[in-house]
Amino acid sequence: MAALKLFSLQRSAAPMMRSAVLLAPQQRGCYKIVTPKESDMSFKDITDRAAATMFWTELFRGFGVTLAHIFKEPATINYPFEKGPLSPRFRGEHALRRYPSGEERCIACKLCEAICPAQAITIEAEERADGSRRTTRYDIDMTKCIYCGFCQEACPVDAIVEGPNFEFSTETHEELLYNKEKLLNNGDKWESEIASNIQADHPYR
Ligand code: SF4
Ligand code: SF4
Repeated sequence: MAALKLFSLQRSAAPMMRSAVLLAPQQRGCYKIVTPKESDMSFKDITDRAAATMFWTELFRGFGVTLAHIFKEPATINYPFEKGPLSPRFRGEHALRRYPSGEERCIACKLCEAICPAQAITIEAEERADGSRRTTRYDIDMTKCIYCGFCQEACPVDAIVEGPNFEFSTETHEELLYNKEKLLNNGDKWESEIASNIQADHPYR
């Protein structure tokens, strides 16, 4: 009996304690009340709740929302036939670029190799007969690459870039070990997109 009395006292005191806590001046504006609002017992609220229960108004409102979405433009796209927009800063497959004359941009300074945090780049270089320095080997292990873009940032002549191509998945590991020929071919293939992306990003650098 005593336990029952204590329980009923606790229950009756709980709302008072809660309101006292909520109304404490030092806490006003500091906390958001997340406890559900107790049902209003006014005649209008009672009839509204009765109508919602009897006539399933919430169910029909739900159907209305569903039907309205049939006539809206879908949020999804039909990939691979449709593709979404890409930022000019998108970091996709790597490419080595050439000058319009066809000469390689890369001067074999090895800054990209030095800065690569994944140690994915391997470069060997030699001096040409005309005194210019060019790479004899430029490999990127694409399975090590983390697409950080540091190689592109470090390059003083915009030779190594991460282009807009993101569809280069392969079935074997070996196919992702890129050599200089593959990277130069990528550059030739994507040069117009790469050049326009660099141009678009130029004002922010
Ligand atoms: S994107 Fe980053 S991890 Fe990949 S090759 Fe360039 S520097 Fe290395
Ligand atoms: S790609 Fe750029 S940073 Fe890397 S070796 Fe060539 S010129 Fe230097």
